[in-house]
Amino acid sequence: MTKKHALKEAQKRWGKTAAIRDTGKTCTCGQKVCDFLHARYAVGRIMCGLFFEVHGDGKSWEEAFEAADKKKAADEERYKNIIAERKKR
Ligand SMILES: [Zn+2]
Repeated sequence: MTKKHALKEAQKRWGKTAAIRDTGKTCTCGQKVCDFLHARYAVGRIMCGLFFEVHGDGKSWEEAFEAADKKKAADEERYKNIIAERKKR
């Protein structure tokens, strides 16, 4: 996936506020946090016109979007559980 494709894909998901980030180099520090905090590619949205909210990141654009999918699924699951909890009361 090229950067151009990645931006298109991001805009499909998040519309006008979509944003992508490529740091230009792959970190090889090998620390536990390397896979996410130091990930080369990140996809997400620009919040309030300046803050980049990362929805997914990884070693490739594909990996970043995959991470975004997982995050979305996890968030939806969490909301479902919250709603289910509320209905019980
Ligand atoms: Zn690193």
